[in-house]
Amino acid sequence: MPAPGTLNLVPFVSVENMMNLVLATGVETFLTELAAYIEEDFRRWEAFDKTARVASHSTDGVIELMPTSDGRLYGFKYVNGHPKNTRTGRQTVTAFGVLSDVESGYPLLLTEMTILTALRTAATSAVAARYLAPQGARTMALIGNGAQSEFQAMAFKAILGIDRLRLFDIEPTASERCRRNLEGFGFDIEICRSGEQAVEGADIVTTATADKQSATILSDNMIGAGIHINAVGGDCPGKTELHRDILLRSDIFVEFPPQTRIEGEIQQLPADHPVTELWQVIAGLKPGRRAAQQITLFDSVGFATEDFSALRYVRDRLTGTDHFDMLDLLADPDEPRDLFGMLLRRKALNASAQ
Ligand code: NAD
Repeated sequence: MPAPGTLNLVPFVSVENMMNLVLATGVETFLTELAAYIEEDFRRWEAFDKTARVASHSTDGVIELMPTSDGRLYGFKYVNGHPKNTRTGRQTVTAFGVLSDVESGYPLLLTEMTILTALRTAATSAVAARYLAPQGARTMALIGNGAQSEFQAMAFKAILGIDRLRLFDIEPTASERCRRNLEGFGFDIEICRSGEQAVEGADIVTTATADKQSATILSDNMIGAGIHINAVGGDCPGKTELHRDILLRSDIFVEFPPQTRIEGEIQQLPADHPVTELWQVIAGLKPGRRAAQQITLFDSVGFATEDFSALRYVRDRLTGTDHFDMLDLLADPDEPRDLFGMLLRRKALNASAQ
């Protein structure tokens, strides 16, 4: 994207520009197009250099780096997860990311990824549900009505046609805000008094709660035959949302097993418990939902290829728009290797300007 002569300038998408890009595209169109990029990259899974994310844990949270490459492009995301942050007016999850050209190693894009993570997580959940949810699903229980929740609802509407929501959060104001934010998007919304009430009549149950503990957001008696569970909130060692017995009754689908075994709901199960990799379903190598009575579980933790897809999509989407700034990020002397000379020339320039 940089014009000739501006090789050291890197397109940068600020939070403001990301919001403008998403709004100019339309939230549902953005989610649908992003889902297509995510699906395309899952389909060529074997082309990627894959590693479980590098996580630095502390008492109240985690900071993670999520790298991957397809040999032509390299991407990484910096992301945190700090459930207590909301008490001091901060986000639980914030992120930024970089896409680079493998041949030169030069960054092609630097972007905010807090909003983009919510979009890519929701788009990935909806892609998985397309293969796993019961046919004709229209009703979703949404438990945990924080930052991720509206994005999940919008993706399931755009990609699956979900138009009935049953909300539950331990903080009723969170459900109220979620309902208010989704007004005018064509949902029929009911706020429920408990998780048990929320799952009544739901075809899909999404859990997106945040608490650094082994929680039981869903207990075994809450999950009837035929349901698809989209478990988003359990994404760290010691941080889960589902009772173990549900896992034993479900067919479990995961992103990258070496990462999900550490971070996902399946950390509760022996390391050899059978799971299906989502990419194999998307590539047509393994079946998704096989029967109406089956309980399917997408044990979402978020994987680097999804961020790579999001970075790729944003870079393509930016073309022809002005929703970015050019950032002076790379020291790139006119004469390669004369980095110190560049510093001296700046010194001379500064002196002559005085
Ligand atoms: P958030 O803090 O904004 O919202 C979490 C909500 O859950 C809050 O409204 C809180 O009141 C509610 N909650 C907590 N305990 C609950 C309970 N027992 N029952 C019902 N509601 C409860 O967090 P967020 O940004 O929306 O993220 C939610 C979770 O999703 C986090 O754990 C985050 O780490 C995870 N996440 C996962 C992915 C992924 O790819 N799988 C991506 C982003 C975030």
